[in-house]
Amino acid sequence: MADPQFKQWGENANGFNSDLWFKIKPNVTNTFRIVTEGYVEYSAHQFKKDPHDDKDFGRKIKCSGVFLKDENSSTTRYVYQAGTCPNCDLDIIESAGKNEDGTVKPGKPGRKQHFVFGVYEYESGKYKILDIKWGVQSSLVTLKEENGPLVNYDIKIRFNPKESPNNMYKVLSGSDKPLSAEALAVIERDRNLDQILALAKIPTYDKVLADMKRVRPDIDKQLAALTSKAIIIDSENFDKKTAAVEVDTDFAAYAT
Ligand SMILES: [Zn+2]
Repeated sequence: MADPQFKQWGENANGFNSDLWFKIKPNVTNTFRIVTEGYVEYSAHQFKKDPHDDKDFGRKIKCSGVFLKDENSSTTRYVYQAGTCPNCDLDIIESAGKNEDGTVKPGKPGRKQHFVFGVYEYESGKYKILDIKWGVQSSLVTLKEENGPLVNYDIKIRFNPKESPNNMYKVLSGSDKPLSAEALAVIERDRNLDQILALAKIPTYDKVLADMKRVRPDIDKQLAALTSKAIIIDSENFDKKTAAVEVDTDFAAYAT
């Protein structure tokens, strides 16, 4: 019998089994039904050992950065609060350029928004968690505007890794047939909203730093160099496309 003190192989600290993640497969139609009324959101960096290595996809590290809405701006823009995320601080220094007059033009935080929710996967007949980025998320928002609540019909995603980044994912609506009794029983049994909500937890500055050190043990030296420059970035705009949006944690009970 499994000892509750021990974790099962393949399980991480949050009790996640790698099988719990929905993997979008390339060149096939991935069909699922969204089974949470809302989603949670978090930001993460892909942190590389060498920032100039194009072949290195990097290690995913959650962001602890604080971005405040600029109330004085006529357009929606967010201002990064320097010193709240070591990875944002580093991004700003590493992607810095020069203005025409030769002064330093600060770079931008390279974090990306992730959107997470529960789905029922038809192929496996299992409940899974889907983690998507802005492109797919905005397609889902469009679908909702055109066809109504996303939980009312199937979602089909086709993923073509050979396309340009803007066209890699095609998102379409599918059948609006009600889920089968078997599918509803699986969802009822396996859907765990606390597990999804835990993903949106923002890490501390120190936790981000510790994660970065695993990739670059000498990161303290690089961060020490930027402390004196941090003042430059205080009023830098945050790109609207990757800016924080309202977090929707309103999970109404599904299928009631
Ligand atoms: Zn960050």
